[in-house]
Amino acid sequence: MNEEKHVRRIVIAGGGTAGWMAAAAIARTLGPAVDLTLVESEAIGTIGVGESTIPPLVNYNRLLGINEADFMRATQATFKLGILFDDWKDVGTRYFHSFGLTGKDHWSAGFQHFWMHGRAKGHEQPYDDYCLELVAALDGKFAHLPDDRMNYAYQLDSGLYARFLRRMAEKDGTKRIEGRIGRVELDAESGDIAALVLDGDRRIEGDIFLDCTGFRALLIEGALHAGFDDWTHWLPCDSAIALQTPNVRPPVPYTRAMAHDAGWQWRIPLQHRSGNGLVYCSRYLDRDAALERLLGNIEGEPLTEPNFLRFTSGVRRRQWYRNCVAIGLSGGFMEPLESTSIHLIQRAVLRFVRMLPAGRVSARDVAEFNDQQGQDMEQIRDFLVLHYKVTNRRDSAFWRQCADMPIPDSLTQKIELFRETGRVFRRNEELFAENSWVQVMMGQGIEPQSYHPIATKLRDDELEKLLATIRGQVSDTVAKLPEHHAYVARYCGAE
Ligand code: FAD
Repeated sequence: MNEEKHVRRIVIAGGGTAGWMAAAAIARTLGPAVDLTLVESEAIGTIGVGESTIPPLVNYNRLLGINEADFMRATQATFKLGILFDDWKDVGTRYFHSFGLTGKDHWSAGFQHFWMHGRAKGHEQPYDDYCLELVAALDGKFAHLPDDRMNYAYQLDSGLYARFLRRMAEKDGTKRIEGRIGRVELDAESGDIAALVLDGDRRIEGDIFLDCTGFRALLIEGALHAGFDDWTHWLPCDSAIALQTPNVRPPVPYTRAMAHDAGWQWRIPLQHRSGNGLVYCSRYLDRDAALERLLGNIEGEPLTEPNFLRFTSGVRRRQWYRNCVAIGLSGGFMEPLESTSIHLIQRAVLRFVRMLPAGRVSARDVAEFNDQQGQDMEQIRDFLVLHYKVTNRRDSAFWRQCADMPIPDSLTQKIELFRETGRVFRRNEELFAENSWVQVMMGQGIEPQSYHPIATKLRDDELEKLLATIRGQVSDTVAKLPEHHAYVARYCGAE
C-alpha cells in the first residue's frame, strides 16, 4: 500500500459544538493513527444556542468514555424525558412527546391498538398514563433505573459542552490553532481542498477537511459549492431570538415548545438558568413584535441580551464532497423543534469515523455517507413537518399556510396509514421510533379510524388486567422516584 496516499492529516475548520464533538471522537478513537488539527476563531465565536438534546447523546458520551456526572457538572446539564407541546393541535391543548415506550407492544401490533380497543370498551384513562418517562416528567421526577429502563437525554449548555470536549480532545492529541480562515486553497489539478489559509498567510494543509464553520459553510459551500436544498416550503420558520433567564423554579426534566400564531417558543431549564427562544416566520411576524412576544412570556428578568438569528431550513446537497465533509450547521439545519441538530452532528461524526478512508477518498464511501446522512435528514424533516401540517389551528395566516402546504409523499403515507389503520412502522433505522410518531400524531389530532384485530382477541377481563397492570407499574415506579432537581444536585455532587 502506498503510505503517501493514507489519510493522515485531518483538519477540522471551526470549533463550535460540531468541531469539538468531531475532534473529541476522532482523537479518542484513532489517537496517533491520525494527525488532527482544529482551527477556530475566538473573534468570530460560535452560534451560542443549542441546549436540548435527544437520547442517543447518552451513548455518544459513553462511547467516548465520558463520566456522566463530570459531564453534567461541566455543562450545567439537567435530564430530559421529552417535550411538552402547548397549543399545537389547538390553542388551549397540550400533549407530551416522551422518550420512552408507551405500554407494551405485541410483535404484531403496537400498544396503541390495545389502548384504542380499551377506549372502545369504555376504559377512559389517557394514553399518556401508560408511559413511564412521560408520567415521571410531568411529576418532575427522575432517577437512573436498572437496565436503562428510563430513557433520557440532556438539557445542556452546548458552549460548555464544546469546552468540555475541547479539554478531552486536546489531551488526546488534537492540535488547536487560533486564527481566522481567510481563504480556502484548492489543488489546481484535482479540485480538492489543499489547505486553509489563515489571516497572516499561515497555511494548514490536510488530506481531509471537516467543515464545522457553522452557517458560513466556508469550505463545503464557499470553496466547493456543494449546493443547498431549501426546505422552507415545508418548514417555514426562518428566524429566532434566544435569551437566558434565571430559574424561578426548580428545573423540570423536559423542554417546552409553546406554539404561537407565527411559530413557537422554547423553554429549556438547565441547572443554573433557563434557555428561552422564540422561533418564528418572518413573513408573519417582525423582529420587534417577536422580541416583545418573547419578553412577554419569560419567567424572571433576562440575564443576557437577545441573540437574533436567521436561518434557512434545508440541507447541503452533498454532505461529503471531494475531500470535505460538512458536519453541523454547515451541512444543513432544520429548525430546533425536536432538538435534532446535535444529534445529526453525532451521526455524521460516527459515520465519518466508520468510513475513514484507508487510502484515497473512495467515491463509494462518499456515496454511502451522503445516502445515509441524507436519509436521516429526510426522516427528521418529515417528523418536523408533521407538527405543522396536522393541526386544527387556522387562527392565523401562518397556520393556514401550514395546513394548506403540500407535504412530502413519504409523510403523506405515514399520516394516512396511521389515520386509516392506527399503524406506524419504523423504517431503515429511522431516528424517531413508533412511539414518537404515535404520540405526536395523536397529540396533533389524528384519530385512527380502526385498530388491529388482534386487540379484540383479548377477553374483557384480560384487556382490563393488561391496562391496569401497565398503569399500576408506571404509577408505582414514579411514586418511588426522587424529585428531578434533587437527584441532579446529588448526582452532580452539589448536595
Ligand atoms: P457554530 O457554533 O456556529 O460554530 C462555527 C465555528 O466555526 C466557530 O468556532 C467559529 O469560530 C468557526 N468559524 C467560522 N468561520 C470561521 C473562520 N473564517 N475562521 C476560523 N473559524 C471560523 N441543536 C440542538 O441539538 N438542540 C437545540 O435545542 C438547538 N436549538 C437551536 C436553536 C436555534 C435558533 C438554532 C439556530 C440552532 C439550534 N440548534 C440546536 C443547533 C445547534 O446550535 C448547532 O447544531 C450546534 O451549536 C453546532 O453548531 P456548529 O458547531 O455547526 O456551528
